[in-house]
Amino acid sequence: MTVKDNYDRPIISFRMSITNRCNVNCLYCHHDGMLPSSEEMTPDEIAKISEVAKTLGVKKIRISGGEPLIRKDIVEIIDKINKIGFKDISITTNGTYLAKYAEDLKDAGLNRVNVSLDTLNRDTYKFITHKDYLQSVKEGILKAVDVGLYPVKINMVLMKDINQDEVWEMFDFCREHGLILQIIELMESESCEDNNVFSKKYHYNINPIEEKLAKIADGVKVREFMQDRRKYYIGNGEIEIVKPMDNTRFCKNCSRLRLTPSGKIKPCLLRNDNLTDIIGPLRNGASDDELREIFLTGINKREPYYNDNRQ
Ligand code: SAM
Repeated sequence: MTVKDNYDRPIISFRMSITNRCNVNCLYCHHDGMLPSSEEMTPDEIAKISEVAKTLGVKKIRISGGEPLIRKDIVEIIDKINKIGFKDISITTNGTYLAKYAEDLKDAGLNRVNVSLDTLNRDTYKFITHKDYLQSVKEGILKAVDVGLYPVKINMVLMKDINQDEVWEMFDFCREHGLILQIIELMESESCEDNNVFSKKYHYNINPIEEKLAKIADGVKVREFMQDRRKYYIGNGEIEIVKPMDNTRFCKNCSRLRLTPSGKIKPCLLRNDNLTDIIGPLRNGASDDELREIFLTGINKREPYYNDNRQ
């Protein structure tokens, strides 16, 4: 049975950030401090935490970071999670090492992958990430498709005056290669340069894009337990809209719990002030029942960030 929080939201998905190290430096990224690799959770610790999550009814595991493929034990991590019996294991990656790992990850039990790619323009890519890895990312995406990871989704964060005009070009690229496009609204980021000046300056209102999609789509699906996201079908293509800011529907239908790279349960994407440590007790020998209690403490702290009183 799936555990629900105090707002009747089932906890279906668990997103584990397994490192905060990264090999690119995106303009908008919230770096959660620099945890040395020696202090990162080991594959066995990640597997134990996943196992406890499964006993509470979690169905989906997503691995993220930092850049998860920067970890040399990434295949071992996926293998251990797979052996627990999860049927839906995914990774969010910047794609730079995907060509190298896609096949081994697939063999280890990875089901699907999201690749962050905000632009197909080399100069814009360099401007956003401060690196020149666009070609490797494209190769990684094609390799992921080739080895049968499905679906492969492209995460595209839209930014005013940076890539706002590239949606349709990206959509064509996705259709050509059988990818799903996710358009993500730029969020405020605590540690962005100049205390959110960036997100204020570059925040782009994606409502007009969604309105256009609603008009031209052949079909629409609402992902009820995935933050009520809308998915638009156009010909053989799919575009999903991820709009967390000021969105009560996003919060009302959020079924995702998170884990920080430093081993703390994080109840809400948009908050860092209500974390619950689980790695400390695990390293001090906590029993499975005690770890389950820690999960429940974290789950009980969940509340919709945006609700009808605070929008
Ligand atoms: N390194 C991996 C990657 O690049 O996909 C995983 C970590 S990254 C933080 C996960 C996702 O968060 C990416 O798709 C990224 O675009 C998105 N993201 C990061 N900061 C964001 C922000 N301020 N607003 C919207 N999305 C953001």
